[in-house]
Amino acid sequence: MAHEKTIHEKLQELAGNLWWSWQPEVTNIFREIDPVRWSEVVHNPVVLLKEYPPEVLEKRASDAVLHTRINWAYRRLHEYLSAVDTWGSTHAGVLGQRPVAYFSAEFGLHESLPIYSGGLGVLAGDHLKSASDLGIPLVAIGLFYGQGYFQQHVDATGWQQETYSNQEIEKLPMERALTPQGHPVLVSVETRGGSIHARVWKVNVGRIPLYLLDTNVPENRDEDRLLTSRLYGGDVRTRIRQEIILGIGGVRALAAMGIQPGVIHMNEGHSAFAGLEMIRQRIAEDALSFDEALRETASTCVFTTHTPVPAGHDRFGADLIDEHVGPLGDGLGLHHDALMSLGRVEPQNQGEAFCMTVLAFKLCRRANAVSSLHGVVSRRMWANLWPWRSEEEIPIGHITNGIHVGTWLAAQMRIIYDRVLPLNWYLRTGEPEVWAPVESVSPGELWETHQALKSRLISYARGRLIKQARRRDEPEELVRIAANALDPRVLTIGFARRFAPYKRADLILKDLDMLAEMVGSSTHPVQFIFAGKSHPADELGKSLLQRVFRITQEEPFRGRVVFLEDYDINLGRHLVQGVDVWLNNPRRPLEASGTSGQKVVLNGCLNCSILDGWWAEAYDGSNGFAIGNGRTHVNQQVQDERDAKSVADVVRNEVIPLYYSRDRDDLPQDWIRRMKRAVRTLGWRFNADRMVMDYVSQNYVAAAGGLSSDMTVR
Ligand SMILES: *Cc1c(COP(=O)(O)O)cnc(C)c1O
Repeated sequence: MAHEKTIHEKLQELAGNLWWSWQPEVTNIFREIDPVRWSEVVHNPVVLLKEYPPEVLEKRASDAVLHTRINWAYRRLHEYLSAVDTWGSTHAGVLGQRPVAYFSAEFGLHESLPIYSGGLGVLAGDHLKSASDLGIPLVAIGLFYGQGYFQQHVDATGWQQETYSNQEIEKLPMERALTPQGHPVLVSVETRGGSIHARVWKVNVGRIPLYLLDTNVPENRDEDRLLTSRLYGGDVRTRIRQEIILGIGGVRALAAMGIQPGVIHMNEGHSAFAGLEMIRQRIAEDALSFDEALRETASTCVFTTHTPVPAGHDRFGADLIDEHVGPLGDGLGLHHDALMSLGRVEPQNQGEAFCMTVLAFKLCRRANAVSSLHGVVSRRMWANLWPWRSEEEIPIGHITNGIHVGTWLAAQMRIIYDRVLPLNWYLRTGEPEVWAPVESVSPGELWETHQALKSRLISYARGRLIKQARRRDEPEELVRIAANALDPRVLTIGFARRFAPYKRADLILKDLDMLAEMVGSSTHPVQFIFAGKSHPADELGKSLLQRVFRITQEEPFRGRVVFLEDYDINLGRHLVQGVDVWLNNPRRPLEASGTSGQKVVLNGCLNCSILDGWWAEAYDGSNGFAIGNGRTHVNQQVQDERDAKSVADVVRNEVIPLYYSRDRDDLPQDWIRRMKRAVRTLGWRFNADRMVMDYVSQNYVAAAGGLSSDMTVR
């Protein structure tokens, strides 16, 4: 008879698959084992379980009456993993034994696995979770960053300080990836200066395996051991070395594990060298010419571009390319110029650097931007690659980004949806009809639920503000103000995103007199929560952050305009579940999509945004608020001034009056109507299930069939 697993073993299995992180009931089990430690260990069940000997854990489980729930969660995990009747089984059958290999430089899955910096990573993480829920045959490849991305503190002058800490591998939900013979995978990539080696870790994301390459192995020179220690750290040489590990090493790791991908999906250009290695394998296997192998490989490769500014794309000089890709080029029979031309818009232009995005366009027969507007911008930006085509015919389509519902939806809101939406709504989030019954939720219940989430956010924010004030050694009087910061009855506007200059975090702070008036109003006050990191090398972003921070320390803003340090998935979740309004005011059209605003919708918060990225195709006049009218100006300063005025006008003339217009029961009926309208009109479109389904039906299935498309580049 098979031995029944102990409670300890079952919990370990649950902790070993990130599936738990989008199941509120399972998350609650870990929390209830020890609520205080749970928050201290950054919601990392692997660490939590290590702290308890099995007997103690058994006892705690029975004291807290968790046995039944643990058994139930364990059974559900196994049902989930073995389900055969999925959307993918009927719509992505062609992928069968030859899965999609999804490459990304970062993955934002959970705060306890810090291998992401922001939107690109969170998008990739959400992609995997939806692919898992939908049952799409897909494996993912990334890098393991031993020090992750930095933790942010802001010093007393408002300047961002970065600290890095070494991840302890035994505390992460990872194990060594194995070859079919059971040996740990080790891959290497040659450069002119010797080989770089990488081991491979496996993370379970529901049904999806994520493989992370890590150069911290004794086979490497010291310099190379540190190669993958930091995400977006180091110089351009570090960058290309990381990218050959990701792309070339990633394809080799798949081969070593016996995985034959049917489709390669490059999420952003960082991984484009993967296409070259695929070509090398085709030539080696079938003795094709380079051109034949390129044609066949490219028909199975899919590229998603994310960056609407030319300067945002990785570019490498000829020397770096020769040093790092030369050996692979030799194997492909490509001399240096031919190799360089693969990364150039004008193949013969000796002065042009090697661009990873160009390489991706040349190696992929399917390419897409991440929103409708970004599609327009990308077609214009890359038109020179297809000089014989008109702009509309440039073969870059778009699939608008979406967010993973289970990850971002508050448990309290899910309870409402479980009651009013159709059975199994969670498996049908991409269908408009599914969301219509939200109209039947009583306004009072919706408002109370939202208020409860907002109160939770505010007490969480106060806790963090106190810690921040203490770390800066502020006087007790200021710590007391932090402890009473923000008011749950006041209209709360959230602004959290990378402090990149184009996101214009200070736009609403341009007119401080007016801001003071809005914040200090005795009848219709408003308060702001800011958060966000600036890239360590981005001095402009840091001074923007400093400006915002300094305002939060001044009267009359102190306690009413606050800055929360160290924006990550955890803080993000609290914010998108608890604010009233999510503010987004990028310099159009530089926000390719943006996803944070999508996270707030199902939680009953309203977007107030420039008509850029996803919002340009989402706003319908009554499902949120629009800043400006979608115009841009060639003069950036004029555009900024115009938008600063628009954002202030919208907040003052539309958002505030609507929020404070209350009925006899103190309910803002018109506001609540807008909340419901947002859920109904946006919920089904801007979620990651819909996004992944679009990738399957528009790109993956055709690519897996090796169908060529009319995209050949000059
Ligand atoms: C969703 C998310 C982002 C992306 O937000 P944008 O809207 O693209 O700015 C960045 N960081 C974190 C932690 C997130 O959760």
